[in-house]
Amino acid sequence: MNHKTGAILVLSGPSGAGKSSLLNEIIDDIGECYFSISTTTRPIREGEIDGIHYHFVDEEEFTKDIEEELFLEYAFVHGNYYGTSIKPVKEALKKGKLVIFDIDVQGNATIINRLGDITTSVFISPPTLSELKKRLEARSTDSQDVIERRIDMAKREIQRISEYDFLIVNDNFKEAADTLRVIANAARVKIPGNEINDFVREWEDI
Ligand code: GDP
Ligand code: ADP
Ligand code: 5GP
Repeated sequence: MNHKTGAILVLSGPSGAGKSSLLNEIIDDIGECYFSISTTTRPIREGEIDGIHYHFVDEEEFTKDIEEELFLEYAFVHGNYYGTSIKPVKEALKKGKLVIFDIDVQGNATIINRLGDITTSVFISPPTLSELKKRLEARSTDSQDVIERRIDMAKREIQRISEYDFLIVNDNFKEAADTLRVIANAARVKIPGNEINDFVREWEDI
């Protein structure tokens, strides 16, 4: 079967759970994909590059994009806006790529609502809250204040695990990466309801 419509892999989980590290680890093993670059109003962190990690904009510009309906989904997370632009996602899907989102639980709910047919969602959790705190402190990209807010948020996000297809507890990094690799490769061949009828028709013609 030719998956012309592409597929979506959503990664969510508390800040510091290891989403970026795990994705970096497997990215060369999962075929052609497009990592969706979100737009955000959060301040740029040291080491981040505008247009690569995020499109960094001010609130005025973000609001304008909302009004013009340019976002596939957007949410207010940890005091900042984050959103996924429709256009690049559409183009990547058209090319049959696996589109990867690192988005929060609200964003996942919207994506499932709009594109649930082609979406596989994964919740990445730290083994414990105290381990999460340790990792956020060790990463040293956020102030104590921001870390506290993210920990609070984590407690709420964890309540919504049942909205996901898969849960990966990122304790042993290698094991977690192995599991994510399997899921990402499977996401690509998930059967989308609207395409399978075409496949059956073609198959019967042979
Ligand atoms: P990080 O979690 O430490 O990498 O911190 P970030 O500031 O990069 O992201 C904060 C939260 O916003 C995370 O839960 C992300 O998954 C989420 N997020 C990032 N981009 C988007 C987006 O485009 N839409 C939504 N809904 N959430 C997003
Ligand atoms: P996220 O993208 O979910 O915010 P990161 O990938 O930035 O998380 O990971 C947060 C921190 O935790 C990083 O410093 C990373 O090196 C570390 N980390 C990730 N996975 C593990 C693990 N299994 N064991 C120990 N440290 C980890
Ligand atoms: P970095 O700049 O640290 O290499 O990448 C930032 C984030 O974007 C990481 O989560 C990384 O995995 C992801 N990323 C960068 N380029 C690509 C890409 O071409 N495809 C995918 N799927 N992810 C990417």
